[in-house]
Amino acid sequence: LFIGLVHFPVYNKNHKVVCTSITNLDIHDISRTSKTYGVTKFFIINPQDSQKNIYLSLKKFWKTDIAKEYNICRFNAFDNIEYTLSIKSAKKKIMESSGEEPVIFTTSARTIEKSIDYENAKNIIKKSNSTLILFGTAHGLTDKMIGKSDFHLEKINGISGYNHLSVRSAIAITLDRLITDFK
Ligand code: SAM
Repeated sequence: LFIGLVHFPVYNKNHKVVCTSITNLDIHDISRTSKTYGVTKFFIINPQDSQKNIYLSLKKFWKTDIAKEYNICRFNAFDNIEYTLSIKSAKKKIMESSGEEPVIFTTSARTIEKSIDYENAKNIIKKSNSTLILFGTAHGLTDKMIGKSDFHLEKINGISGYNHLSVRSAIAITLDRLITDFK
């Protein structure tokens, strides 16, 4: 199981398609969640060289002995992150390691027609050679991207009308729903 944090293509608050910046908080928190739930690789997907350079400087620090001594949990979690330029390149990397195209799931806080529930998603994941679940930044994955995926996961509903989870929380909840009983 692979996950991808998509910085492009995503919507901004005006519904324009944009590329967002990487954030330190997302990188650390999502890598820790991924490691906890046995995710093979957490892809940071962003086409911009400037963002890649910021990521590489963070990574450089988190490979040092100082970082290891400072926070061993963050240090250990960093090894399952991979920066890649596009969704296509993430798919290609998965194909190279697993031999088959991954099944692609998208996610959103919006209600999307023909979404599948977590039980069905679990069965698909169990039967698949590899799966890539994509999460958005800013105001979420574009409709076009969602339309191109193999499956769209139903949105997480809380119990109030407020539905504004951070992507970090959404990833933790999604992984918990999909893989806790995989042991
Ligand atoms: N309005 C945006 C949307 O339609 O997805 C919210 C974007 S949210 C800040 C960033 C990402 O977190 C989303 O692209 C999705 O991957 C995930 N996310 C947030 N809330 C979610 C929910 N209720 N159900 C599923 N995924 C959610």
